[in-house]
This record gives sequence, C-alpha cells and structure tokens, in this order.
Amino acid sequence: MNNYCIACETLITGRSDKKFCNNNCRSDYNNQVNKDRDFPMRRINKILKRNKLILSRFLLQETLSLNTSILTAAGFDFNYYTHREKDEMGNLYTYCYEYGYAKGKEHKIMLKKN
Ligand SMILES: [Zn+2]
Repeated sequence: MNNYCIACETLITGRSDKKFCNNNCRSDYNNQVNKDRDFPMRRINKILKRNKLILSRFLLQETLSLNTSILTAAGFDFNYYTHREKDEMGNLYTYCYEYGYAKGKEHKIMLKKN
C-alpha cells in the first residue's frame, strides 16, 4: 500500500508508517491544525479586548450621560464579557477583564475599574 504525505499529498517512500514526506510538511500541517483550533478563542479575545479598551476610554473621559447606544456606536459588543459581580450597593456589574459596566435607569451606563 502506498503512503501519501497528509500535508502535500506527495507519495512517501520508505517506512510505511510515515505521515509526512519531510519535517517542513509536518510543521506546516501542525501549524495549520493549531491555527484552526485556536481560532474561536482568538476571535473572542479580540472582542473582549476591544470591549475593555472602549470601557477604559469612556471611564477616563468620565462621560456623564453615557448610555448603551453610545457604547454600541463605539463598537462595544454587549454579548461578550468575562464575568459579573454585584457591588456593595447591589448594582450588577458586567466585566470585560478589570473594567465593568452596570445598566442604570433609561439605558444609562455606569462604569468602574476593579
Ligand atoms: Zn509533504
């Protein structure tokens, strides 16, 4: 039975248990597998980092009338966050890493850094 390299599909000569024709093909193939496997995590991390950056920017600016539509317009994605925590007042804060927001009345947003 003939063996073909699973990276480049070249016919492999020699030992029949070889999966790759050479080390380049082996590392190309493994890199591609790792890339595909890590892709969802990288995509989500990117969104979380952007969310965090947006929160940190608005926290610095101390925007008084900050609301959900301003955050959305800035590119904030409310579907992605790292954790939730209630503060001592009972407000539920949603965090992207160390930056959190809580929804107040009339879509108002409160920010904090932990
Ligand atoms: Zn090959």
